Amino acid sequence: MFHKEFKFAKFAVDTMINPFTDEYFMKKALQEAVMAFEKEEIPVGAVIVIDNKVIASSHNLTELLHDVTAHAEMQSITAAANYLGGKYLIGCTLYVTLEPCQMCAGALYWSQISRIVYGATDENRGFIKMGTQLHPKTKVVSGVLADEAADLMKRFFIEKRK
Ligand SMILES: [Zn+2]
Repeated sequence: MFHKEFKFAKFAVDTMINPFTDEYFMKKALQEAVMAFEKEEIPVGAVIVIDNKVIASSHNLTELLHDVTAHAEMQSITAAANYLGGKYLIGCTLYVTLEPCQMCAGALYWSQISRIVYGATDENRGFIKMGTQLHPKTKVVSGVLADEAADLMKRFFIEKRK
């Protein structure tokens, strides 16, 4: 009992010290994915963060823009580079609800982004299945709030694409 309470207290303290966890920023990406869902776009959302500050947020807009390159990641890469005034995203982390495709992974390669954190795996079109290489300096974390992201995708294809 004591041990359990202690563990909870430690978690609470850790969260107080650093509220900017990967889950915290992934929730922001999920909010973007919900915005895409509401526009009848495949629900993928992304944010780019530097020094715990969100400098870009976007969601998939391929239908609205009639543009197959309007993936959430592509828009966030452009917005973050504009914000930083330089083409490289060194020191930045991309949070994206779904594993990037090979196009986005290619763009992320060129950006030299420091970290990619994604939620759900894309078994069919993800960059890992496609064998796309990221920049050697880019670290990858997967599976953050993956169930939430996957549920949103499933709901989309059940409700919107009958
Ligand atoms: Zn993509």
